[in-house]
Amino acid sequence: MSNKHFKPTMTKLSNYFDVQIDAEGNPYMEVSIRGANLLKLPATNKGSAFTLQERMELGLEGLLPSQVTNIEQQLERLYANYQKQLTDISRYQFLRAIQERSEVLFYALLERHLDEMVPIIYTPTIGLAIQQFSDIYTTARGLTLSADNIDRADTILANHLLHDVRMIVVTDGSAILGIGDQGMGGLDICIGKLALYTAGGGLCPFQTLPVNLDVGTNRAELLDNPQYLGVRAKRLQDEAYFELVDKFINAVKKQWPKAIIQFEDFAKNVAFDVLARYRNQLPCFNDDIQGTGAMALAGLLSACRKKGESLAEQIVVVAGAGAGGIGVASAIKEGMLRAGLTESQTRQQLFVIDGRGLVIDSINTDTYKLPLAHSQENYQDWAIEENRIPSLMDVVTHAKPSVLIGLSGVAGLFNEAIITSVAQHHKHPIIFPLSNPTDNCEVTPQDIFEWTQGRAIVATGSPFADVEYQGKQYPIGQGNNAFIFPGLGFAAVVGECSRISDAMVSESAYALADYIAENCLAKGLIYPPITDLKKVSHYVATRVLAKALEDGSSKRQDLKDIDIDAYIKSHVWQARHLPCKASK
Ligand code: NAD
Repeated sequence: MSNKHFKPTMTKLSNYFDVQIDAEGNPYMEVSIRGANLLKLPATNKGSAFTLQERMELGLEGLLPSQVTNIEQQLERLYANYQKQLTDISRYQFLRAIQERSEVLFYALLERHLDEMVPIIYTPTIGLAIQQFSDIYTTARGLTLSADNIDRADTILANHLLHDVRMIVVTDGSAILGIGDQGMGGLDICIGKLALYTAGGGLCPFQTLPVNLDVGTNRAELLDNPQYLGVRAKRLQDEAYFELVDKFINAVKKQWPKAIIQFEDFAKNVAFDVLARYRNQLPCFNDDIQGTGAMALAGLLSACRKKGESLAEQIVVVAGAGAGGIGVASAIKEGMLRAGLTESQTRQQLFVIDGRGLVIDSINTDTYKLPLAHSQENYQDWAIEENRIPSLMDVVTHAKPSVLIGLSGVAGLFNEAIITSVAQHHKHPIIFPLSNPTDNCEVTPQDIFEWTQGRAIVATGSPFADVEYQGKQYPIGQGNNAFIFPGLGFAAVVGECSRISDAMVSESAYALADYIAENCLAKGLIYPPITDLKKVSHYVATRVLAKALEDGSSKRQDLKDIDIDAYIKSHVWQARHLPCKASK
């Protein structure tokens, strides 16, 4: 695919560089800086690939080794050095260092080794990088806003190198992956997600921005670590917290009115409120709630297809009632309604469990859980003693679920007794232990195969090797939000959406399920391999943009009559060196 028509923006990307199109319709990088500065900016640095003519014209003569190399030679050298790294964290540091030297090389390398490198720049390795953020910190990237500087948010946003930001991934670092409050380290998850926006979704990296809202941390080891780089104070709460987030949102609206915001890894006590507060103010979504919901619904629809049943026939238990669990249960409920069940039937077929047991409305439960809470009448024939909350085992015994989804972060929660009980009533139980990182997974795929005699349909949150069972190899699909958010966000960016509607999120789930039906089920996969990321994201983006045009979320109603697939393709950023010319 060529990026002949690629012109990412009408606004200049930066004061220092921009992408322009020449008279033949080919893109080139126009730069207003010269010499060593060009080699310092990851957006403009081509390293040894600057041609002799470019070196002469741009003041680079003598600053680089004599040989001019092409990108393939550069990638060969980088990959050989990557392979010399001995640990995952050093592989992570190696890749991040490339990203800070040359974005094109970083993405070109990633693209060629997606399978191998996604688990490094994203889960699970990114979890380690986040935990060691302050100890291994090297280079500034993105923005950090805190109580100390938030009143100057307008100036801070204007300070940034990039002028046409379209996609922001922001965290407050309060609930990172399955490893909790990581304070300042949360910035790395935003960097990782944005890498997938580009590597998977095709978003131009010079239009993306990671942001950490450094509202403090409640983690004692961080506060006690002399190297800790974040604000050394307990987390802001309540009014002070929302005041800070409000100021950030208002500054974004002013500085980058076309930006889409992805809220990332906000703890459940604020995640739902943050989403509700801003979703009608600007286009935004929460990946842990909505992205996870869409990803899990797509996998569940695929698993149902595999066994020739409908979602309406399933009895589902979701263990975990945080951002992920409630997001997933809400998406499944919508899916069940769409499959023909009534609201009250969904109550009989969908059970959410938290740390106390079944989520019920008669005890003091959090507001965000209430739409999925059960009342005691729903389970009165289970003969549970009065005032006792049904446990996961009670629910499994009495409701006889055909689907078990884990988003609890509790390793071993789906023990042999739970799994065998589920398998007793269903020939092909669907079991998705989705908790990350790998050590927190509710049950390993190998154990599920052993305990169900290989009958279960399995997908996990973290990557797992194929399972060998009775002499056969079974691939394990990874329920990765990366199959949803890059396509969803890309559609919102190129469709210049004014909101991210529920219909758009839901369309991303059904699009992914259709992609899986067409490309993966016959190979025994419930989710695509990560090598399909670009194809999946492209397909998801096409369907989501069509939906956004249909429901009025896209401001680009002029796109209604065009070929959306071609439009999406024409906006995909390509990781290749562009000719570099000095601006006049
Ligand atoms: P969270 O802290 O917001 O929620 C955890 C929930 O689990 C809480 O409701 C808690 O009450 C419940 N819980 C604790 N102990 C339990 C037990 N013994 N039985 C049942 N429930 C129990 O966390 P979160 O952000 O929702 O994430 C939860 C897990 O899901 C993490 O491990 C995270 O990595 C994973 N996750 C995976 C994906 C993915 O695979 N794509 C996406 C999102 C979250």
